[in-house]
Amino acid sequence: MGIQERNQTVLVTGASSGIGQGIAIAFGQKKANVIINYHSDEEGANHTLEMIKKSGGNGFIHKADVGNEEEVITMFQRAIAEYKGVDVLVSNAGIQKDNSFAEMTLEQWNKVMNTNLTGYFLCAREAIKHFTQKEANNPDAKAIGNIIFMSSVHDIIPWAGHVNYASSKGGILMLMKSLALEVAPKKIRVNAISPGAIATDINDDVWKDEEKLKELMKLIPYKRIGQPEDVAKVAVWLASEESDYVTGTTIYVDGGMTLYPGFVDNG
Ligand code: NAD
Repeated sequence: MGIQERNQTVLVTGASSGIGQGIAIAFGQKKANVIINYHSDEEGANHTLEMIKKSGGNGFIHKADVGNEEEVITMFQRAIAEYKGVDVLVSNAGIQKDNSFAEMTLEQWNKVMNTNLTGYFLCAREAIKHFTQKEANNPDAKAIGNIIFMSSVHDIIPWAGHVNYASSKGGILMLMKSLALEVAPKKIRVNAISPGAIATDINDDVWKDEEKLKELMKLIPYKRIGQPEDVAKVAVWLASEESDYVTGTTIYVDGGMTLYPGFVDNG
C-alpha cells in the first residue's frame, strides 16, 4: 500500500501559525494524523486542529519548546504511542531576533540558534531513533521515514542585520545534507524546503506595509509574495512516494528570489 493511501502520521513543529499551520492543514487534507506542536499559541494550534478535522484528518495539539531536550523527547513518545509510530517530521518552528552585528546580544544569538538549529537537531534525532526501529525491508522498498527541514533562502543569501538567523539557516543546510547521507542506507529521506518571502507573522511588518512590500517585490522576479499553501504543497510531495528518490536536496520555493533579481534587466 502506498504511503498516500494509508494514513500517514506527521509531526509538524511550530504549527500554530504561518507555514507550519499551512503544512499541517495540507496533510490533514490528505487524511493524515497530525501532531500539531506549538510553543505558546494554544488558540492557533486549536484552529489548526479544527481545520484538519474539518477536512477529514485527525490529530492533537502538543505544547513543547523544540529547543528543550526533555520536552522534545516527551512529545515524540506521546506521538508514537498515540498513533503507533510517526512517518514524517516537518521541523518548521523558527524565530528571528534581529540586530546589527555589533549590537547583537548573546541572548539574541543563542535564542535563534537554540530554536532554529538545536531544535531541528533534537527533533530530527528523536525521529531518526524511531525510524531506525522500523524494518527497512529491502533496497527496493520505499522510504520508512521522512524528515523535512524548513530552512530559508537565507541558507545561501547573506542577510545583513540578521546574522544569527542566516547562520542558523546555513547550519540547517549541512545538518540536512550530512544527516541525509548518514541515513539514506536505512531508507530514511531527509530534505529541506527554503522559502523566499511568505506572508506570515514572522514578516508581517513588511507585507502589511505598502512601501516595504513594493521594495520587497524588487527581490521577487515572480512578482508576488508567497502563501503558506505554496510551501505546504511541496512538503506534502516531499513526504509522499512520488518523491521517493529525492534525498539530501533543498527545494527553493521563492518566486525566483535566489536568481540574483538585480540582473533581471540585463544587469
Ligand atoms: P511564524 O512566526 O508564523 O511561525 C513560526 C512558528 O514557530 C510559530 O508558530 C511559533 O510559535 C513557533 N515557535 C517559535 N519558537 C518555538 C519553539 N521554541 N518551540 C516550538 N515552536 C516554536 O513564521 P513562519 O513564517 O510560518 O515560519 C516558519 C518557518 O519558516 C521558520 O523556520 C522560518 O524561519 C521559515 N521561513 C519563513 C519565511 C517567511 O517568509 N515567512 C521565509 C523563509 C523561511
